[in-house]
Amino acid sequence: MTDSVVVRRSVRSVAFDGAVVVSGGLAFVVAAAHALGSLPVSLTAAAVPLTALMARYPVVLARAGGDIEIGFDSAMLVVLALLVPTGPAVTIWGLGVLLAQLTLRKSWSSRVFNVGLGLLIGWLALAVMHLFGPLDRTQPRVLLAVGVGAATYFVADYLLTGASLAIETSSWRGAVSHDVSVPVSAAIFIGVDSLGFVAAMLARSSPWSLPLLATPLVTLLYAARAYKQANDNRATMTAMFDAARDAHHATTPREILATLLDNTRSMLRAPSATLRRAEPGPAEIGFLLPDTGEGPMWLVAPRQPHAPVRAQRMLDMLGALAIESLSRALLVGEMAHLARHDPLTGLPNRALFVDRVQHGVALSERSPRLLAVLFIDLDGFKGVNDSLGHDAGDQLLIAVAQRLGTCVRPSDTVGRLGGDEFAVLLEDMKTADGATEVAERILTALREPTRVAGVDVAIGASIGIAVRSDGDDAGTLLRHSDLAMYRAKESGRGRYHLFTSRLWAESRERLALEGDLRRVLERAELALTYQPVINLDTGTIEGFEALLRWDHPGHGRLEPLRFVGIAEETGLIGAIGQWVLETAYADAVAWTRRYRRPLTMAVNLSPQQLGDQRIVEQVASLLTRNDAPVQLVLEITESTFVHENSDQLRRMRELHDLGVQLAIDDFGTGYSSIGYLRHMPIDILKIDRSFVADIARDSRSASLVEAITVMARSLDLTLIAEGIEEPEQVVALHAMGCSLGQGYWFARPLSGDDAQAMLSRRRLGRPQVPTARLARPGARPRG
Ligand code: C2E
Ligand code: MG
Ligand code: MG
Repeated sequence: MTDSVVVRRSVRSVAFDGAVVVSGGLAFVVAAAHALGSLPVSLTAAAVPLTALMARYPVVLARAGGDIEIGFDSAMLVVLALLVPTGPAVTIWGLGVLLAQLTLRKSWSSRVFNVGLGLLIGWLALAVMHLFGPLDRTQPRVLLAVGVGAATYFVADYLLTGASLAIETSSWRGAVSHDVSVPVSAAIFIGVDSLGFVAAMLARSSPWSLPLLATPLVTLLYAARAYKQANDNRATMTAMFDAARDAHHATTPREILATLLDNTRSMLRAPSATLRRAEPGPAEIGFLLPDTGEGPMWLVAPRQPHAPVRAQRMLDMLGALAIESLSRALLVGEMAHLARHDPLTGLPNRALFVDRVQHGVALSERSPRLLAVLFIDLDGFKGVNDSLGHDAGDQLLIAVAQRLGTCVRPSDTVGRLGGDEFAVLLEDMKTADGATEVAERILTALREPTRVAGVDVAIGASIGIAVRSDGDDAGTLLRHSDLAMYRAKESGRGRYHLFTSRLWAESRERLALEGDLRRVLERAELALTYQPVINLDTGTIEGFEALLRWDHPGHGRLEPLRFVGIAEETGLIGAIGQWVLETAYADAVAWTRRYRRPLTMAVNLSPQQLGDQRIVEQVASLLTRNDAPVQLVLEITESTFVHENSDQLRRMRELHDLGVQLAIDDFGTGYSSIGYLRHMPIDILKIDRSFVADIARDSRSASLVEAITVMARSLDLTLIAEGIEEPEQVVALHAMGCSLGQGYWFARPLSGDDAQAMLSRRRLGRPQVPTARLARPGARPRG
């Protein structure tokens, strides 16, 4: 039995191995010197090659640290011990061992060690056997001597190879193991040496029956090989299982490849196995791995001449395991990417963007550089989606994402927060101006038309900028930029707005107002003022426009501009609007009865109210409850976009059918196209104050108003001029044929009592057309 130590010998273990070799060599030399001349020629001729043959084909049992090879040559040692004296026995044995090692393909160092070891333990075993007396008898004592000798051989072999390995690896682990292979090899060894004993006995008494030993020898050999096979398979299975577990635990492609390489090296005992792009050469085996982002890779190991098929199979199995794990890792990677990116544009999504902002905030805490977040909301994106379809909308979003990318440095982050909302994180800025410059670049870049669905679309954006000040975290920055974006929208879109602490205060106030507004009806804090609509021909009151006021307990009387927007956004406008409608109409009914005259009552309507079917029911019930001569007018601002065939338009028709007159408020400010007048059931146009303001001084305004009057007349629409503040305006409007007007010149919005006082006078004290008498009014009615 010899041990094939696979590891390369180091300088430290050379001394030990050298001692083994020198002692073995000495034993051989001494024995050979004694035996020279007395060597039995025929026995030597038969035993040397037989020993070599049996040593040449050992059974190899795998063991951690190094395989155990059980050579059947020790049986020959027993035969020689029983047939010839120690000198010739050692000599013949030694020659056989030498011949075996010469024909093996192993490193020279390991062959020299194995020869030395074989000679040393062979000599030792023979010496121990001879301690029991002469061995050329047939006595039980001889059997005992052979048993002890064989045990000495086995133990010495095991300990010396173990020691050599332990010194080599600086550890006794693996060198002397409690592996099951040790007792198994001992059992095989005992069987083999027993055969040697039997062979010697037969050689002495009846040499012709020796061939009969071939049967137990072959059986033993076969059993040993079968055991080895099973053992190898078990080891492979265990190693494959471990490799599968390792591959499963590895999460990234890099880890998986590293594990694959480790396992290949240990399972194939090929430290030179490697991963590379080049294909395996003729002395190599390989397995092609799929592309993990760096191109396809080969797992390459040296070809193993004694087990080429088995090695390739192991490589294939390891490779297949790795492929499985790699595809799982790639899928997981893809899912992780999807979870943090917007699938349409590929930009970081909100979660990743917030992460980046957090990271940026942490960095900026330690640096004097500034950090800014730009919150970008596209203007009118819904219109693109509605008119050109969602595919076109998607294309536009992709184009916007690309444009945004061109406006920032590669180190900045562009993200899509959802819908038509994008955000940019600017890091490492010297001054806050950097952020406004980027905002301007973005606005310019987006203004450039994009071709989607065959149409050139130029999309605007509103941008809110928040530059980080001390203590701001990611959430604060995003909130601030969002708030600033809303301000940019409110101030007319297509622009940027820089967040300031004032904006914050305003938004808090707005929030507080929102809370108060929810209780405005139950606390009866709303009031109506009435601004008379004057007939410019006769100076009489045609009717009133009801204008809403909020008597806020803390802020005093609030104008509708301060709170109607909030009411619209929060949905409170429905209830408030109904209150206005009921109150104004009830007052008008009371006044018509009290002053016995018909009146018009105009009520402003928010777009949201028109979006709700209840408005029609409310108005219908209002009108059936009263039969007073009140003409109800509902005013809709021109910017309320009403589609043809929309629900709003249907409701307008239903209201009109109920006998309500519909007015376009602030005419001339909302739409560039007046085509809508064709399909909307409109009765009145209210010329916006801005045109009236300049009418007496600016000829262009005058021409515009004149054109409107001509158009109104031909469409059979009533005209009311808003915001008349000066008598010259009355003159000019009257001259153009506009016969109804309202404004501070006649009266500011009045309380109910003041409105009635005015009604009781029937005619205004102020002449309607003050031609020659342009005296400034004395006391104006209270507002
Ligand atoms: P509007 O319907 O165009 O109302 C006219 C606005 O112009 C009123 O402002 C009025 O006080 C003001 N005004 C009237 N004459 C003159 C003038 O000679 N010079 C100037 N500078 N202004 C004049 P107010 O009352 O602040 O209302 C503003 C807007 O609020 C209204 O514009 C209307 O759109 C909205 N609003 C008022 N009441 C209601 C309401 O009950 N419901 C809804 N949804 N909106 C309302
Ligand atoms: Mg109005
Ligand atoms: Mg108006």
